[in-house]
Amino acid sequence: MNKNITIIGAGLAGCECAYQLASRGFFVELYEMRPQKSSPAHKTNEFGELVCSNSFRSNNIKTSAVGLMHKELESLNSLIIKTAYQHRVPAGDALAVDRIEFSKSLTKSISNHPNIKVITEEIINVKEMCKEGIVVIATGPLTSEGLSQNIREIVGEKELNFFDAIAPIIYKDSINFNYAWYQSRYDRDNSKDYINCGLNKEEYNIFYNELINAEYTTFEDFEKDIKHFEGCLPIEEMARRGEQTLLFGPMKPVGLVNPYTQEQPYAVVQLRQDNLQGTLYNMVGFQTKMKYNEQKRVLKLIKGLENAEFAKLGSIHKNMFINSPKLLNKDLSLKSNNNIYFAGQITGCEGYVESTAVGLIVALMISFRYQNKTLEIPNTLSIGAILNHITEAKADFQPSNINFGLFDHSIFEGKKKIKKQDKKDIIINKALLSINIFNQLVN
Ligand SMILES: Cc1cc2nc3c(=O)[nH]c(=O)nc-3n(C[C@H](O)[C@H](O)[C@H](O)COP(=O)(O)OP(=O)(O)OC[C@H]3O[C@@H](n4cnc5c(N)ncnc54)[C@H](O)[C@@H]3O)c2cc1C
Repeated sequence: MNKNITIIGAGLAGCECAYQLASRGFFVELYEMRPQKSSPAHKTNEFGELVCSNSFRSNNIKTSAVGLMHKELESLNSLIIKTAYQHRVPAGDALAVDRIEFSKSLTKSISNHPNIKVITEEIINVKEMCKEGIVVIATGPLTSEGLSQNIREIVGEKELNFFDAIAPIIYKDSINFNYAWYQSRYDRDNSKDYINCGLNKEEYNIFYNELINAEYTTFEDFEKDIKHFEGCLPIEEMARRGEQTLLFGPMKPVGLVNPYTQEQPYAVVQLRQDNLQGTLYNMVGFQTKMKYNEQKRVLKLIKGLENAEFAKLGSIHKNMFINSPKLLNKDLSLKSNNNIYFAGQITGCEGYVESTAVGLIVALMISFRYQNKTLEIPNTLSIGAILNHITEAKADFQPSNINFGLFDHSIFEGKKKIKKQDKKDIIINKALLSINIFNQLVN
């Protein structure tokens, strides 16, 4: 195999992947369509443009999973994280950057690298390109129309999503089981698959009024097509259609009996298991455009969720991503053609840091493949946990940020109840130990 790799997209994932491969002696051709063509959100011609916030979120390793991911990426010599630290601006606990200087500096590092050749061109045919060797698709949530069409032909129409409709995800151990109970509708499936929170008429009316009067974020101009898609209506949009609508939709009570009252509740919120380990549950049908603080306020009005801790809040965005658990191997190459890899947000991770991590992971996987070795990333690491999220089989795959619920919880099985912060401390300490060993393995 020759050591030439093609990468499409000079965003966070594409740049990280290119840099990691180039540092390991590969020759990379990096294609970027800007400035020839731009997405509706990008405003500059620089690489790794941060299209919205200038923050890589919390840098606090003691309290936040993304802070831990910063640390892991830094140890693995991530160019994106190094550049972010170089252009850091004061933002408390967060790692925020001067976005212009960050992108300029990144563009310079990539363009000046002797093993990277940058080509300004929109790629619309990967099928042809991968006949010559390995191609990494890192074109992000706003992949150009021409390439989207080509990817759809490669992976199949049903496996490509153009937006996410994310329902809030809650840590199971923050649910109050004095009110909530396990049961599937009509007791059809395994009883542990669903957790239910019942509401009486008065509680429902209070919740309903707060829901329709909450504050919302609006759709961007380029997201107008999502707004009208019936398949992912926000919960508040359904509610506005009538006071009873939710009772025949996501809050329908039929087939469920509250064991504490022995009655069918007036309304029910169902939460479905969201990860294999059963640490996370998502609120079925509760995708929403409510502002984040409003979500926390309004959803906690539901009995059983008054102390809910959210691993992820709800959202609806324009976001192109593939059904990775079905389509990709563990090394993020396509099952149907292992010359094609996917990296970054298009794989169903979410966020600047996670996209960077998945760019780095793909580079490591390719590098191991050339040594005829298989790389296993432990899910004691945040990078292993996010890899698991995008490759682990799921009924309804939706993008996710990194959060503590995605880490290996088997270590707590059979142990007496451990406090939440103590669990986090154990996870963090394990990750910090693992990263040193992992670093020796890959560098
Ligand atoms: C409107 C919006 C707001 C967001 N806000 C945030 C936020 O505040 N915080 C956060 O953490 N995440 C945010 N995200 C998610 C964020 O975009 C991603 O986390 C991150 O940028 C993904 O990195 P990436 O490298 O996968 O894709 P990108 O950074 O989008 O990079 C993809 C690159 O591929 C190029 N490209 C696309 N198609 C082609 C083609 N056919 N040929 C060649 N080049 C191509 C693009 O021009 C781009 O440079 C937001 C996303 C959107 C759409």
